[in-house]
Parts: sequence; structure tokens; C-alpha cells
Amino acid sequence: MNVYDSERMADILAPVGYEITEGPDDADLVILNTCHIREKAAEKVYSDLGRLRLIKDGREGTMLLAVAGCVAQAEGEEILSRAPYVDMIFGPQTYHRLPEMVARAHRQAGTVLDTDFPPESKFDHLPAPSAGGRTSAFLTIQEGCDKFCTFCVVPYTRGSEFSRPVAQVMDDARGLAVGGIREITLLGQNVNNYHGAAADGEWSMGRLAAELAGIEGIQRIRYTTSYPADVDEELIAAHRDVPELMPYLHLPVQSGSDKVLSAMNRRHSADDYRRLVDQLRAARPDLALSSDFIVGFPGETDRDFQDTMDLVAEIEFVGAYSFKYSPRPGTPAAAMGGQVDKTEKKNRLAALQDLLNAQQRAFNESCVGRTMAVLLDGPGRHPGQLLGRSPYMQAVHVDAPARMSGEVVDLKIETAHPNSLAAVLAADERVVA
Ligand code: SAH
Repeated sequence: MNVYDSERMADILAPVGYEITEGPDDADLVILNTCHIREKAAEKVYSDLGRLRLIKDGREGTMLLAVAGCVAQAEGEEILSRAPYVDMIFGPQTYHRLPEMVARAHRQAGTVLDTDFPPESKFDHLPAPSAGGRTSAFLTIQEGCDKFCTFCVVPYTRGSEFSRPVAQVMDDARGLAVGGIREITLLGQNVNNYHGAAADGEWSMGRLAAELAGIEGIQRIRYTTSYPADVDEELIAAHRDVPELMPYLHLPVQSGSDKVLSAMNRRHSADDYRRLVDQLRAARPDLALSSDFIVGFPGETDRDFQDTMDLVAEIEFVGAYSFKYSPRPGTPAAAMGGQVDKTEKKNRLAALQDLLNAQQRAFNESCVGRTMAVLLDGPGRHPGQLLGRSPYMQAVHVDAPARMSGEVVDLKIETAHPNSLAAVLAADERVVA
């Protein structure tokens, strides 16, 4: 979502004369768009700021420096005191006010701080997103979260749940399709709890996905990130009935232990998750799953961790993000007893990642010999090569003419690497055979 937000910041600054530069050295305005989800991401802001300050000092007052995003939202005052040379600090819900903030920053001496949760929606004030010559685009349909998982800062930094109206989403999607976008990834912190206002009531994400699939040019739809307890019948049905909805689902489970899931306030058990996966796989048998995991949540024992390993072994994921629990200021889990030792967290993470990596490799290897529809979206590593994405989000390299870029093409997978696949055009393959 930060990638999407950054693009929208560029969109709203374009009419007042800004364009993207290659790097910070010749920029008139540098915006650090930040993430607060784990301590490591948040701390990086201050080291990056130190580096940018040197560039700013050499520019004799011709460069503005801004901190945007969730660190700005959560730690605005701290940034002010640790880095008073920053010109603007603003959160994820106020960047539609950027032109006005820039004007103020030029006028006034001190830092412009805007970390409101404004009553108006920024989406009502942003220009229509542009395709920008690409084939795949993000589209935010939902923002914020009301779940209050005990480890998570999102409800405090992004604010409460908000769904964009259906008509606004459809307009953006049509515009992107006309601009050449073939694949849309719907975004939200809790995307499948989408309930967008429409003329005939509220639409779920399943219904929205089916409607988006009808837009001329849109060949692929994805969504992220979903919350297991909010997967409803309509969404499961969409996986069965809407071929444009890709057979790949990021469905964070966090832990395989009921005790830990309950302490996390996840509102589902490990067996609920297993049953949900069964229903989804029944609807779409070729569905591949990825997930998020946290190891070393307060109170997690060896037995609890083993429950996570067992769940992973059983479900078989094709990819995953896994993290050591990171206590976040202001969240309930940060104050819980039973914080897990650093070395223990490290060892558990290594064991979990070994298993997840082995599953990813096994899945990639199982693709060899198969023909897959791949969206070719740009140049590959070598001349004459294109890079694309399989339905399962695997990177696929193929020797193919540049004119095929932007098309969905059948490729025969020849080789599997840990993080990518190599393929030949299925049409060529038939000629050779
Ligand atoms: N609503 C989103 C949250 C995005 S954060 C979602 O459910 O995916 C992405 C992942 O970061 C989470 O799924 C979780 O696995 C991890 N995460 C969030 N807070 C964390 C924390 N305090 N420590 C470690 N990992 C965390």
C-alpha cells in the first residue's frame, strides 16, 4: 500500500510542477514514505533521515524534506525533536493536502505537521490514477482496520476501516484498463471486509471482483491482504465462478496455536483456518496459498511453535512472509508477560523459514513441464528476454519478442529456481515438438 500511496503522492504533486527524479541528489522535494509495522522498519527512518540531511545541507535551502506514512502518523512529535530539519511530517490520511503543505513549507520557517484523521476521504480529492505504461496496477479499495490484533499498530496508524464507494473504484479501474492495465491488485489492510456503498446497497469484495472482471481489458484480479475470519460465501463463490480472480491467495494465519491465536485476538482457531482453506480449495482446486507468520509472540512455547510447524506442513504454502515478534509501542502485546528470548525467536524463525522455503521450492519444481498463462510485463535480465508473472505470482523468464510485453501468453515451464522459473513460448515448443 505504501507503493500505491507514493504513486498517488506523485499524482497529486504533478499539477503543481513536480515530477519523479532518479534519486534524492537533484530533487526539490524528498518524501520518505514510512512503515511502522515492525521496529526495524521504523528505526530505518532515522538512519535514512541522517543521510538525507547531508544532501539537504549541501543544497542551500533548495530542497524540502518530508516524512510521510505510518511512522509520521505514530511518531510525529518524536521526528520533530530528533530531526527538526525535516520540513513536512504527514500521515497516510492527509497526503491529498500535499500541494497546500508544500506551499506552507516554502512560506514558514518551522516544520509543517499534519497527522490528522480528517473527516473527508483523501480519495475524493486525488486525481484519477494513471497506468503509467505498465500492465499491472495496485488499487486501494479499503483502508484501516478495526480488528485490533494485539501485536499490530495498523488500527492506530491507518485509522478505522473505510471502504471506497463502488462507483469510485469502478471508475479508477476502467481508467486503468483503458491505459493498458491488464492486472489489478485490490489493496486494503483488511481488504476482504470491503463493504463499499453502491446504488443498491453495500457490495462485498466477492461481488466487486466479479464486476471488475467484466471490464474490457482486465484479465487478472488479485487482492491483498485478507483476514481469514472475514472470508465470506460470496468471496469463496467468486473464486469458483470468476476465472479472472487469480488462483493465488495471501491469507495470513500468524500462528498454528489456538492459545497464541487467542492471545493475538485473531478471532479464529487453527481448525477454522484449516476448514476455510478446504472450502477455498473446493471452490478453486488449483488455489495456491501464501501467508504471514509471527514467531515468538509473548507466551509462545515450544509446543505452540510446533503447532505452527504442523499447520504449515499440513497446508503447504507456496510463499510466505515470516517475522520475529516485534513489540510495538501502545499495543497490548507489548505489555504482556512471557516475552520470548531473542535467540529463541531467531531459532524458531530459522526453522520455520527452512520449512516454508522447502515448500516454495517444491511448488516451483512441480511447475516444470506445465503450461501456464503468464502476464509478460517487462524486459528480463538479458537482451531478448521478457519477465512475467505466473497466476501464482512466480517470476517467469522467457525469450520472447518485446512486442509481447503487456500480453498474457502461454508458456511452458522448463526450469525451476528457488525464486523464479524459466520458460519457453508454448507456441514455439509445439513447433519444435
Ligand atoms: N492487516 C495486515 C497487516 C499488515 S502487516 C495483514 O493482516 O496482513 C503484515 C504482517 O506483518 C502481518 O500479517 C504480521 O505477520 C506482521 N506483523 C504485524 N505486526 C507485527 C509485529 N508487531 N511483530 C512482528 N510481525 C508483525
